[in-house]
Amino acid sequence: MELVQPEPSSPIILAENLTKVYAAGRLQVTAVHGVSLSIEPGEFVAIVGPSGSGKSTLFYLLGGLTQATEGRVVIDGVDFATLNDSQRTRLRKHRIGFVFQKFNLLPTLSAMGNIEIAYAISGRKDPLDLAYLDHLSELLSIQGRLQHRPSELSGGEQQRVAIARALITRPAIVLADEPTGNLDTKNSDAVLRMLLRSNRELGQTTLMITHNPEAASIASRILFMRDGEIVREEKGSRADTVLPASGAALSAAT
Ligand code: ADP
Repeated sequence: MELVQPEPSSPIILAENLTKVYAAGRLQVTAVHGVSLSIEPGEFVAIVGPSGSGKSTLFYLLGGLTQATEGRVVIDGVDFATLNDSQRTRLRKHRIGFVFQKFNLLPTLSAMGNIEIAYAISGRKDPLDLAYLDHLSELLSIQGRLQHRPSELSGGEQQRVAIARALITRPAIVLADEPTGNLDTKNSDAVLRMLLRSNRELGQTTLMITHNPEAASIASRILFMRDGEIVREEKGSRADTVLPASGAALSAAT
């Protein structure tokens, strides 16, 4: 009998020999030095390292928010270097959802308004899928908070709205930069569980940058950065244990 070999899956995020050098006055700072990585569709990967190790710079490179001095980034088979500015912006809007430490919600809009405007800016032709928004709100436990402005929400709620905003366009990739950096332990844990659950249930690929090894342990794979390089890789110790059985209620903090 002839065996059918499975197709080797191709990475959704590929970085080859990435280097970023900043010119700081007469000094040059090499923030990222020769980093290569490959992330498969659906993975949840954390990049962890101390302050100044180059995590944010790597995040900006992988998200196409800054250009590499050397090396290349390939997102879903497309090399950023082959795109002009507007093509790069389009790829970002269509394929990547961003989550930042400081939430970056527009203060004059309600939570719902923030999610709607993100969808409008993404340039999609289909109207916003309200059933999907309902699903996301439930997944992220923000159903009762959608009419509130950011100032009326706790930090944990603001970050969960920011995750809904990132997910509303159904991106293939979520890039989260220190998503729990401004949260207390209880809210951090709720946000991490929700990132993990959305990764599992919606199937997007998640890459999270953090300085906190405890937060990183939720990922299926952890890459450790030091002095601009990835120096080690291991499996997240909490990856298989933190989610309740599918369908069970996921309690949110405040
Ligand atoms: P992390 O996110 O791990 O704290 P960063 O990527 O922010 O690390 O920074 C890595 C190094 O690059 C640090 O030495 C930092 O001072 C330097 N750096 C970051 N951004 C700039 C910039 N715009 N200009 C000059 N140096 C920078």
